[in-house]
Amino acid sequence: MADAIADRAKAAYLGLAIGDALGATVEFMTPGEIRHQYATHREMRGGGWLRLKPGQVTDDTTMSLALGRAIIDKGGQVEALACAQAFDAWMRAKPVDIGNTVRRNLVTFRHSGNPVAPPSEHDAGNGAAMRVLPVALATLGQPTHVVSVAIRAQAHVTHHNELSDAACDTLVAMTQAALEKVGAGGTANSRHADNPGKAQDLSHFATILIAQHPQYAFDGRRRENPSGYVIETLQAVFQAFFGTTSFEACLIDVVNRGGDADTTGAICGMLAGACYGLEAIPARWLKALDASVSGACLAQATALVSS
Ligand code: MN
Ligand code: MN
Repeated sequence: MADAIADRAKAAYLGLAIGDALGATVEFMTPGEIRHQYATHREMRGGGWLRLKPGQVTDDTTMSLALGRAIIDKGGQVEALACAQAFDAWMRAKPVDIGNTVRRNLVTFRHSGNPVAPPSEHDAGNGAAMRVLPVALATLGQPTHVVSVAIRAQAHVTHHNELSDAACDTLVAMTQAALEKVGAGGTANSRHADNPGKAQDLSHFATILIAQHPQYAFDGRRRENPSGYVIETLQAVFQAFFGTTSFEACLIDVVNRGGDADTTGAICGMLAGACYGLEAIPARWLKALDASVSGACLAQATALVSS
């Protein structure tokens, strides 16, 4: 069963990177602009406002990899200072893109040396939620309060905000539940491609989130053009994830909503990868993904779940 969990962890990490690369092509476009240019955007074509190569990823994936490396180097512990140093080194290496809140709070860290950003009601962006996967993998099977502390250690380096924390908690719980489900399957059958998980099995986590923060309700109007505000981001993610039944359909649904499409794509890719497994990832997307990125995702997924 450990193999089955490791395979789902790999699918989640590859899914994150694929969703990022797919969505980056249409980041900041409206659904109408996407329709006009591509009918439906469904191929790894690169381009976008960042002028990417096909299969090239952005900050969502590269910050996750920087975080994952920091956790692995600490023997599986999520330490705030190590996370902050890793993000600072990542920023110094001139990433293709960087969020405003991430930049501001990393610059503050450089001067203060304090890896905990001051609490701010304005820092409810999706920048901590987009890179939460390595924490989910490293804390799999650990007590809830340990997971909660680890989530905040990485998140508060740049986003010290209650709504961001709630989003991170929910995404980690969903990802871990999807991984544990295959681990608890008990039979060889549960690892089989024709017996994938179901998004609906994870919907109670969204229900809990909405009970705590009603702003997250997503069953009203279709969320198009989601911004980097974590509530709009998760509304689009939830609608796409719970409204489809495959990895491919989920990612195509969410990126064609435009807006912060690389980030909604990355988060949906993580959830759908964890839920549906490696067999569900279209070969053409996997083949197009930057080879050094896919190699790092696979290596980190294995190391993080066994740490
Ligand atoms: Mn990005
Ligand atoms: Mn983005």
